[in-house]
Amino acid sequence: MRYRSTKRQAPLTSLRGAVLRGLAPDGGLYMPVEIARHSPDELEEFRRLPFTEVCFRVVRPFVGTEVPEEVLWQLVSEAINFPVKLVSLSPGLHILELFHGPTLAFKDFGARFMARLMGYFVRGETRPLTVLVATSGDTGSAVAHGFLGVPGIRVIILYPSKRISEAQEKQFTTLGNNISVLEVSGTFDDCQRLVKQAFSDTDLNRRAFITSANSINVGRLLPQMFYHVAAYRQLPVASVPLIVSVPSGNFGNLTAGIFAKRIGLPVARFIASTNANEVVPEYLRTGEFRPRPATATFSNAMDVGSPNNFPRLLDLCRNRLEYVRREIWGHGATNEETLLAMKSLYERFHYVADPHTAVGVLGWEAYRHTHPEPAQGLVLATAHPAKFADVVERAIGSAPPLPDRLAAYLQRQKLSVPMSSRYDDFKQLLSTH
Ligand SMILES: *Cc1c(COP(=O)(O)O)cnc(C)c1O
Repeated sequence: MRYRSTKRQAPLTSLRGAVLRGLAPDGGLYMPVEIARHSPDELEEFRRLPFTEVCFRVVRPFVGTEVPEEVLWQLVSEAINFPVKLVSLSPGLHILELFHGPTLAFKDFGARFMARLMGYFVRGETRPLTVLVATSGDTGSAVAHGFLGVPGIRVIILYPSKRISEAQEKQFTTLGNNISVLEVSGTFDDCQRLVKQAFSDTDLNRRAFITSANSINVGRLLPQMFYHVAAYRQLPVASVPLIVSVPSGNFGNLTAGIFAKRIGLPVARFIASTNANEVVPEYLRTGEFRPRPATATFSNAMDVGSPNNFPRLLDLCRNRLEYVRREIWGHGATNEETLLAMKSLYERFHYVADPHTAVGVLGWEAYRHTHPEPAQGLVLATAHPAKFADVVERAIGSAPPLPDRLAAYLQRQKLSVPMSSRYDDFKQLLSTH
């Protein structure tokens, strides 16, 4: 499969080129040049075949001949080794739990698959590939766990000292092996600046083989189609039009949903469910896209004021507002509404939702309110409620217990190395590592 840039000013490249580069040289995002539809018969088969087989068939056309089939099979089965659970709260409202992976958030799908794909693509390289990531919390743990033990790759994670919770910190600073962590005395913006500066440092790039693992990488999007297929396999009634509500920040998750629709999955419409950072719902309402600094909310993994996958959404809708509107409906929820939705889900269904999932439920409810025609809602549950225990406690009066695999990290020793926020220190560390 060939990949092109959304800006169409860069040469076509292979999947390997797109995954190792991340961003296209013209500043655009990589897209497959074509997306092939599966026939209705094949889709019907998707309901019966083992899930690994289905994931393999979904991703294979996007990989083409670049990865041998037996390697791709192994890659898929190792990456997606945890369940996707569908919980039907009522005949018309289903929750798709995507948080049963090692870091209890949906980012495990993308990070685990991309790490293994990169691992394959750097085989035979003489220099190890260094993946640099700046994190303010959750991305760091998904990426660290995804790459843990992948041969030929070392990961360096930068995070702002004392600005993230202990539970978050322990999840990625205690792993060791090929995961190094720098605890920067500075802010998240300092961490991001250091990483950006490293990528534009020609001297460093001549000597070291470095790349990034952020959410614009197409290698993270492809495996996010898998769980849309998982939902399709488990829905009790397939004949009622399906509306998929996606709690969104950078819009990678929703972009992957549209990919899944393009390969043939029956989705009537997507809902862009955001918190107060409602740049995309506003665009859908007014036709104007106005990125701006993010505001802090309870669903902080979606505190994004300049969604980086937006060019892909436009591209998939032929850059026409009317097509985007046909595909996506938008809704922004406030903090108060989020708490009330968590409370109401608990009281009505005994369901404990994290704040991101609650934002998704609010999007679906707002849609249903204005669209009376028959439909069933599928809300993507993006994080385990225990990851946001303080907000859950505020909403329902008690905190969900920490799952064992998260609690175990709290006992472990932090292995991070303290560092200043000066680029010279960072470069020195990178060069001697
Ligand atoms: C990253 C994240 C999101 C937002 O996903 P995007 O693909 O950036 O839109 C939503 N919920 C949780 C819990 C996340 O970690």
